[in-house]
Amino acid sequence: MAKITLDNLAHSYLPNPKSEEDYALKELNHDWIDGEAYALLGASGCGKSTLLNIISGLLNPSQGRILFDDKDVTDAPTAARNIAQVFQFPVVYDTMTVRDNLAFPLRNRGADPKYIAERVQQIAAMIGMEEVLNRKARGLTADAKQKISLGRGMVREDVNALLFDEPLTVIDPHMKWELRTQLKSLHHDFGHTMIYVTHDQTEALTFADKVVVMYDGRVVQIGTPQELFERPAHTFVGYFIGSPGMNLFDAQIKGDMARVAGVPVPLGRHYAPQGGRLQLGVRPEFVRLVQGAEGVPAKVTRVEDVGRHRIIRLDVAGQTASAIVDEDVPVPEDAQRIAFDPAGINVYADDWRLRGAGEAA
Ligand code: ADP
Ligand code: MG
Repeated sequence: MAKITLDNLAHSYLPNPKSEEDYALKELNHDWIDGEAYALLGASGCGKSTLLNIISGLLNPSQGRILFDDKDVTDAPTAARNIAQVFQFPVVYDTMTVRDNLAFPLRNRGADPKYIAERVQQIAAMIGMEEVLNRKARGLTADAKQKISLGRGMVREDVNALLFDEPLTVIDPHMKWELRTQLKSLHHDFGHTMIYVTHDQTEALTFADKVVVMYDGRVVQIGTPQELFERPAHTFVGYFIGSPGMNLFDAQIKGDMARVAGVPVPLGRHYAPQGGRLQLGVRPEFVRLVQGAEGVPAKVTRVEDVGRHRIIRLDVAGQTASAIVDEDVPVPEDAQRIAFDPAGINVYADDWRLRGAGEAA
């Protein structure tokens, strides 16, 4: 297991990149802590696989270095990096049995046959394939083959890191949950450094200690699920994580007061004067519908019942917004305004979160 350092890393698929837009992965400095489970989360095309393939050595970066435990591996081939990688689609040897497929990485390293037999049995149990160990991989469903790929990725205990690139894409929804739980317990038992790529926030938030959110080739925030929920560093994080995502309201800001749609909104903190497009980000969980003359004018356009709570869709000065109301809290029928809990307000200038006076880094 190893700490993985990305030093000044960037990648362009173009031979002569000129501007920032030419980079699929924009400049990045980061340490992946030894033994942590990370999720790499972002929409399709944002650069997740590019980053993962640079770490595994399938791709040589156009700029910067990769270090494993402070040793430069930038030019080392994949085999020399001692990692396991599982891809989106199955990679199995069709003519081999399931057992031989699973044993392959261990035999390749000259492991003891007795240990191999035990370990293969263990992994087969984890992926639910004990019954078919002696079958050839040929003819198995894509789903089953992907489970073999996963098993093969997990079979070695002595790897520097385990990398997963959307490994559950072809797995049926029921089994997805099961396999994700297995991966988590594998991490718990062996403490591998794990990087798990996904575009699914639920998958990321349930799997990882830390979530790395990417947007348009850039890492916009690295944080615990709670940090991403409470303090989204970028409006994209607020919007992408949460269901529904964070509301954004155009605002003017002076000291510890904002104005939204002309109405004063207390912020709870003082903000230094700032140029650019200023917005308040408020998650639907922190929006309350209120009666009376105080608050930001809002029109209820729809009420959606989603089980334990309701989602109230709103029109606020021509912009759409949402509020979440618990099922046992009545929705005031004549509510024409909304109010925000100051603890739930984040302030953004040109999409990046501003730090208020006295707030820790
Ligand atoms: P993700 O895994 O997040 O979906 P990728 O890392 O695959 O994103 O892609 C990031 C960007 O790089 C995309 O715009 C994609 O079209 C581009 N890209 C990916 N692979 C190549 C390649 N081999 N050649 C040229 N462009 C590529
Ligand atoms: Mg990808």
